[in-house]
Amino acid sequence: MLKLIVCIKQVPMVSELNWDPRTGTLKRDLAEGMMNPACHHALEAALRLKDLHGGHITAITMGPPMAEEVLREALAIGADRCILLTDKRMAGADTFMTSYILARAIEKECPDFDIVLCGCHTSDSETAQVGPQLTEELKIPGAAYVEWLELNDNVLRMKRLSDNFLETLEMDLPGLVTVTTSQYQPRYVPLAGLQDAYDKCDIITLNAEDLKLEIAGIKDSPTRILKVYSPDSEKKNIEMKGPAKKIAEELLDKFGRKIGGTIQKDLKAYGQEQ
Ligand SMILES: Cc1cc2nc3c(=O)[nH]c(=O)nc-3n(C[C@H](O)[C@H](O)[C@H](O)COP(=O)(O)OP(=O)(O)OC[C@H]3O[C@@H](n4cnc5c(N)ncnc54)[C@H](O)[C@@H]3O)c2cc1C
Repeated sequence: MLKLIVCIKQVPMVSELNWDPRTGTLKRDLAEGMMNPACHHALEAALRLKDLHGGHITAITMGPPMAEEVLREALAIGADRCILLTDKRMAGADTFMTSYILARAIEKECPDFDIVLCGCHTSDSETAQVGPQLTEELKIPGAAYVEWLELNDNVLRMKRLSDNFLETLEMDLPGLVTVTTSQYQPRYVPLAGLQDAYDKCDIITLNAEDLKLEIAGIKDSPTRILKVYSPDSEKKNIEMKGPAKKIAEELLDKFGRKIGGTIQKDLKAYGQEQ
């Protein structure tokens, strides 16, 4: 039986996110959570493989206890089993530590998997590092930014856009892919499925001790975010009046160096060449 794992992160709903101007950090606690969009597409890709070949989908998330909501949603859409990794000692994990913890959980709970599917990146931190790092942790082949998947005799054929070229790749399994949001439009959540996801399905919850991890998320995370801030930018409108020649001259006087720098041309020399 095809064994699929989908890694899902709960992210804050963008419309509800606010900055704390005092600390310069995002006020995540006040925002409602949702399934990261790329993870939703990865789940849909897994569901389509299951529709075609049969199989079993395990959805797994690491986060605070409220991250359980995205797992319930995954169950409602068609995942078969869900695992929540939550522990204060995991909080503050950077991507390195996140991949390490996800890998240990996969090895413990689903060691005989065929394909791990991740989103290509998240909508809140957006590093796109967890998928590739998880590939390293699990010591399996991986492909990032995949748009289309086809399975034949334990070989996964994939398409992805790279520098405007469409690449076709093949990978032996077990392997990992990160899925973009361009294809695999997620299906609707059926209401009946949602009811069952809450009433009939248990979620496996694991902490650091269950995984025999001797870690502290922040202390053992080598990455430090020193500051998060919105860069200041100023915009103003300038009105230029008069004959076209005068306006063109004024434009070049005022912005010639900037425009020339941007397009990497000496505008005076450029004018003479024409
Ligand atoms: C108690 C607790 C609190 C946390 N609080 C925060 C927080 O406030 N802010 C924050 O950004 N993170 C938090 N995390 C999670 C963790 O720190 C981040 O998930 C991690 O740093 C991912 O970085 P990224 O968003 O850039 O991932 P990317 O590399 O952009 O993600 C790519 C893909 O990797 C997979 N992935 C990434 N993160 C997870 C995850 N956690 N679980 C399952 N799959 C994942 C998904 O498939 C995702 O689409 C918390 C974790 C715990 C246990």
